[in-house]
Amino acid sequence: MTSQDADVALPAETEVALERATAAHRHQHLFSQRSANIKQSAVRDVFDVSMRPGLVSLAGGNPYLQSLPLEKIAGMAQRLIAEHGMAALQYGGGQGTEELRRAICDVMEHEGITGADPANVVITAGSQSAQDVAAKVFCNPGDVVLCEDPTYVGALNTFEAYEVQVEPVAMDEHGLIPSELQRRIEELQGEGRGIKFLYTIPSFNNPSGITLAAERRQHVVDICRKAGILVLEDNPYGLLRFDGQPLRPLRADNPDDVIYLGSFSKILAPGLRIGWALLPDHLQRSFYLANEAVTLCPPTLNQMLITTYLAEHDWLGQINTYRQLYAERCAAMLAALKEYMPDGASWTEPEGGFFVWVTLPEGVDTYPLLYDAIDAGVVFIPGAAFSPSDKPSNQLRLAFSAVPEEAIREGVRRLAPVLGKAMAG
Ligand code: PMP
Repeated sequence: MTSQDADVALPAETEVALERATAAHRHQHLFSQRSANIKQSAVRDVFDVSMRPGLVSLAGGNPYLQSLPLEKIAGMAQRLIAEHGMAALQYGGGQGTEELRRAICDVMEHEGITGADPANVVITAGSQSAQDVAAKVFCNPGDVVLCEDPTYVGALNTFEAYEVQVEPVAMDEHGLIPSELQRRIEELQGEGRGIKFLYTIPSFNNPSGITLAAERRQHVVDICRKAGILVLEDNPYGLLRFDGQPLRPLRADNPDDVIYLGSFSKILAPGLRIGWALLPDHLQRSFYLANEAVTLCPPTLNQMLITTYLAEHDWLGQINTYRQLYAERCAAMLAALKEYMPDGASWTEPEGGFFVWVTLPEGVDTYPLLYDAIDAGVVFIPGAAFSPSDKPSNQLRLAFSAVPEEAIREGVRRLAPVLGKAMAG
């Protein structure tokens, strides 16, 4: 029955709402089973709130773009379109341009990955889409992916969308615990479960800021190799180590067992949406074809812009500027935590990256505290977002990357009494 049949005509907006509800009902049964696993991420929820004026956001892990040479980059983009517009605005190859793949191999040399073949690089729409392609290529519904506990929320969302069972493995202050990894693999394989890969962020883990110790790195790969599973190494922060040389990625000494993911999001600009995967020879083709099926080709203009930026700008100098800036911001956050946090709270002391991970005593759930924190004028991400289980978490993530030192200090000062009250109560 429509409103035309009714005695009383409904207001126009009610009519529209009714039509939408009817359409939603008609389409309800069309959803794939996997779509039920696709959730709004807690990070996105908080993102919207964190734009409110006056609020200090320690939530979003955004890079600080203000120190980029914007005019120079604008000039490059203008020149590319004026001089090479027909190519820059056209479709390109599905693997990405050879020029950028070659330049990416030079970037990776700075982290210790030497002699990589540009033919084994596949350019993706950020590391995020490389994670998606990896899940698409390797995972059937019900398969297991191992990850650190805690791990990157975007990866959890991606893997879960493929109906994968994500199994967390414990970390300590030196990163993933090899004996725990071994134990979990034995348990799961003993139950006949198919484990496909270990997803790991060995350097400056998001959200914990923890780094896998150099002496554990080979052991972790050896355990996976012996168990017949791949390692998916996600390293967007690797070059952003505050002091000293970047740590040697797992891929550096294990070209056949590790798929390495890199990104320009943290060292240049996330809006360009350019990342990459470096693959073992035998996986390159499957990965490349799956990537092509998703995006046809990575954005041509953005690839050309990054190639030009790497060739014409002191990009390593730019990274050094960021390293110093993030080191100062991290130091400001650690100093503020020391000054303001209630007794009983503890936190990590990262050597690079964007994040500090705060642990409160057992039994305190940080999720509801978010609303009190917003009232107090500060936002963070509750720890539960970074774990595949929906268990309450007594931990929370603070990002120092995008906020000036004074605001970091003010944010921590506002947060401390909110946590203190919950710990006392
Ligand atoms: N991996 C990790 C560990 C991240 O922290 C992020 C972004 N915060 C991503 C991947 C996504 O990066 P991209 O912009 O390259 O897709």
